[in-house]
Amino acid sequence: FAGDPAGNLITVAVEAKGTHGMPHASGRPDDLFVHDGQITKRPVRALALSALAPRPGERLWDIGAGSGSISVEWALCGGTATAIEPREDRVANIRSNAAAFGLSHRITVVTGRAPEAVAALEAPDAVFIGGGLDIAMFDAIWSRLAPGTRLVAHSVTLETEALLVDLHQRHGGELMRVDIAYAGPLGRYRSWEAARPVVQWSTVR
Ligand code: SAH
Repeated sequence: FAGDPAGNLITVAVEAKGTHGMPHASGRPDDLFVHDGQITKRPVRALALSALAPRPGERLWDIGAGSGSISVEWALCGGTATAIEPREDRVANIRSNAAAFGLSHRITVVTGRAPEAVAALEAPDAVFIGGGLDIAMFDAIWSRLAPGTRLVAHSVTLETEALLVDLHQRHGGELMRVDIAYAGPLGRYRSWEAARPVVQWSTVR
């Protein structure tokens, strides 16, 4: 990123955290982003970006953008993102993360809820749904997408998972459950501490 004015901002953001240089792979550390705990965690974010398969110049709708971490990692691959988020405090986080990474010109923030908030937007190349998914929202979004558009949705709750199970049956694609565990202390020993499972559905319109 040397020599690129946007890259200088990224370097500042990264060096402020005590490391050097900007990791090039998606799934960057959570603490590079301002967030309130509602952030797609690093390993799961890497899986989201892998499924979204960004290419330079492509447009993403990031629905339920939270901290904007998905939009940032998408835009770092050379595309543009529209981050849709109803909560003003999180919209502020998205803007500050976009600015810290030097990506304010590539990330547009829409304060509002899908599907209403996407009504006036130009059609995307890919959509990530990380919050607020229900069948009405899905139907409204799906009907807006051109053939070939990639769609990736994550669920943490059983209710949203049930919807993804149903959508996978109706529309195909890949349904994947991600079970991650971290080693933690157990008395004098260590043991696996399971994170909540995340289900990812990815398909192409
Ligand atoms: N991927 C995000 C985290 C998403 S948390 C990140 O990495 O930071 C889910 C978000 O969805 C929350 O911030 C919530 O406010 C938002 N949300 C809930 N319902 C929504 C809707 N209908 N449209 C858009 N966003 C919604």
